[in-house]
Amino acid sequence: MAQGQTLRWKIGDVTITRILELVLSVEYYEKYPFMREARPAALQEIPWLYPNFVSTEGELLISIHALLVQTPEFNLLVDTCVGNDKPRKITSNQALHTEFLHDLAATGCDRETIDYVVCTHLHVDHVGWNTMKVADSWQPTFPNARYLLGRNEYEYWSKSKAEDQIPVMEDSVQPIFEAGLVDLVETDHKISDEVRLLPTTGHTPGHVSVLIESKHQKAMITGDMMHHPCQIARPDWTVGFDEDQQAAALCRHRVLKELADSTTLVIGTHFAVPTAGKIVSDADSYRFDY
Ligand SMILES: [Zn+2]
Repeated sequence: MAQGQTLRWKIGDVTITRILELVLSVEYYEKYPFMREARPAALQEIPWLYPNFVSTEGELLISIHALLVQTPEFNLLVDTCVGNDKPRKITSNQALHTEFLHDLAATGCDRETIDYVVCTHLHVDHVGWNTMKVADSWQPTFPNARYLLGRNEYEYWSKSKAEDQIPVMEDSVQPIFEAGLVDLVETDHKISDEVRLLPTTGHTPGHVSVLIESKHQKAMITGDMMHHPCQIARPDWTVGFDEDQQAAALCRHRVLKELADSTTLVIGTHFAVPTAGKIVSDADSYRFDY
């Protein structure tokens, strides 16, 4: 099916490959909307969203995928999805049993060859494959990787009493600390000449995006500073779980203004196929050119 297709982009000497976990169709739910302004009628005013990003029934298509970034020096995985064997609210409290690791290995890069893992933030759908179930314990999935986590982000969530976050920290974050694989980094951390982090806080206090630059070509992996391409046209639209909704909206305005009409390829962490495109000016806002 179209959503399962392998997507790969070349940025100079760097290759970025999408590893899909699953696609959610999110219908507008009056009581607890995913994005309260994204009513079907409001979405219809943004025709370029159809059919890739919004179904004809007005459901938002939300992809959960990791992005494998391969430079000549290292293999880096950005965000590790929900993971297997972890019943979570986002998957209706059912544990997933996907072929994620098989799909990763099929790119020629199995889990032992990952050198770095970056979690743009510590929400449930960005840390899941940090660990995998071995017998009855949670073991690091990428035993030879340094896991780069934002210092602010970790400090914030390790003190959080949020009911949904506690099991996520216990099974997907603490075990990688215990294995000595974590480096706490600042939000502007430079990994190499080609790959660095960009602070895009608001969704969470230590949220980062990832910038890739090689041979005068550029790409940006959004993380959850945007969840859906409709926010390119409507940067003020927020999701209920933006920790600071005002800061998240300001961040979108700032980043979109910087990217508009540039050659930077924007790769959306939750954008459905084709997942990547350019930001172009459109009247007093922007659209996604894909
Ligand atoms: Zn997310």
